[in-house]
Amino acid sequence: MNYLEREYAGGVLTDLDEIRRLTAMHQAELLAFQRHLNVHRYPDGPFRILSRTVEKQIDCTACANCCRATQVSLSDLDVGAIARYLGIEPREVIRQYTIPDPEDSRGRVLRQTKSGCIFLDQNLCMVYEARPRACRDFPHLAGGGRSLGGRIPSIFKRAGMCPIVYNVLDAYKKLIGYHPARRLTGVA
Ligand code: SF4
Ligand code: SF4
Repeated sequence: MNYLEREYAGGVLTDLDEIRRLTAMHQAELLAFQRHLNVHRYPDGPFRILSRTVEKQIDCTACANCCRATQVSLSDLDVGAIARYLGIEPREVIRQYTIPDPEDSRGRVLRQTKSGCIFLDQNLCMVYEARPRACRDFPHLAGGGRSLGGRIPSIFKRAGMCPIVYNVLDAYKKLIGYHPARRLTGVA
């Protein structure tokens, strides 16, 4: 167990209602923190280590909110993987499980039901081993080569819907010694 794991063991907030409430209540503070990170170019390493540490503390099968609240874009590779997993043709995956991407006329997204993604069963993914890249990488904290500064806006957008993101941002404030009052008086 590293020092971050010791620091955050058992200390994460996972109640989605409470996370939504706190995020809405502290919008201005979150925006100020986002601006602070945009201006100060912190190294990526500690953020990545912290993200992995918090991810280990949170059970996604007890949450599954991203499977309910996000739209999943599919690549041809994703469609092929799901087709092999289900033992059907890729065109059948497209026909049965996808709709046109409302934001990209050439793309497809997974169909949704009233409960979220069409592959969501209770809190479990029925195609987990073959789930799309976007699902495997969610909540995209590692960044795939993009700098921390470049991915800050998209990370902050997920603070109110993903317990991992919420807790990482909260813990990162402590890690870098950020405090709104000190920031305003120019001490940090
Ligand atoms: S990635 Fe975030 S929103 Fe998705 S299940 Fe895990 S904690 Fe919940
Ligand atoms: S494919 Fe699986 S992991 Fe991805 S959104 Fe649907 S249920 Fe969730």
